[in-house]
Amino acid sequence: MAAPPQMTCVRCPGDLRVEVGSAAVDEPGPGEMRVRTMMSAICGSDLHHYRTPAATRDANGFSQWALGHENTGIVDAVGPGVGYPAVGDRVVVYGIVGCGHCVHCRRGEDVFCADAEHFSRHRHGTNIAYLLAPARNALPLPDDFDWEIGALLSCNVGTAYGALRKTKASGDRPLAVFGLGPVGLACVMLGRARGATVIGVDPVAERRALALECGAQVALDSSDHDLIGRIVEAAGGEGVAASIDTSGHPAARAAAVDALRIQGTYVEVGVGHDPTIAPSQQIIFGEVTLRGSWLYKRHEWEGLLDFVRRRRIPIKSLITHRFRPEDAVEAFELADGATAGKILFDWS
Ligand SMILES: [Zn+2]
Ligand SMILES: [Zn+2]
Repeated sequence: MAAPPQMTCVRCPGDLRVEVGSAAVDEPGPGEMRVRTMMSAICGSDLHHYRTPAATRDANGFSQWALGHENTGIVDAVGPGVGYPAVGDRVVVYGIVGCGHCVHCRRGEDVFCADAEHFSRHRHGTNIAYLLAPARNALPLPDDFDWEIGALLSCNVGTAYGALRKTKASGDRPLAVFGLGPVGLACVMLGRARGATVIGVDPVAERRALALECGAQVALDSSDHDLIGRIVEAAGGEGVAASIDTSGHPAARAAAVDALRIQGTYVEVGVGHDPTIAPSQQIIFGEVTLRGSWLYKRHEWEGLLDFVRRRRIPIKSLITHRFRPEDAVEAFELADGATAGKILFDWS
């Protein structure tokens, strides 16, 4: 029997390294699809892998898999028993593979599945020429959304959408966004599209400038000694009705709570591991609500498409760099510098 053909695969050993190598192209099994990647993208969570010590990644068995979970492409083959999608369909592949039958999976909330497999930790991720996944992970990409938009929606803008819905940001509910990387910038754009006054906060001048281009009313330096005072003033005197932290940074989290008005809502989407919230002072006395938001749920997909389409949100302006996958080393070095907007890989 002939060996299976090989394809390009970008892996991450850790220690600030990625490697462009190869992997075998496998046939889809029962209930599976194989998607030819047209576009993939670098996410902040890929950078967590990139910055992890190689020994830790090896011990966890992560470094064997293609890195990434943001993608869009064309269905290239389907296994036995697959009704949807069909070969030739344009799809985004949802980046978490649930067991398919627990109560969370049946609700389309695979993120909560106790047995979920994550791209680039338990199976190949999206920086690969052909991606295998269960057919139920296919999210249809309509023809009026191009490949770049599909890749942006697959996690980055989708994550912002999931968080924004929880803030109920609107014309009379000003919003502060902490961390103005690609997810933060998408929060700014979507918050504006909901009619909210949006205040951006980030230590990096380039990213503050991008936030202003995305529609932020003001973009403040997180090292400003009167940061909370400036946010309260920009929000009309009472503080913001909602805040989102995308950075996971302890100081940003604390400020995102302190900037809230009475009974405001804080939503956390930035992964970090430092306990930073003081319950009595920061939660009880202002009766604030603290919420987490993880990715978006499969059942939110059509709402996300509809919102972006109807409000004509120019999400492609989040993209600042495009690379070929062969240049992944350079692309990750750029992403690690935290000054760029969204970085895409064009596999087409
Ligand atoms: Zn992502
Ligand atoms: Zn499940």
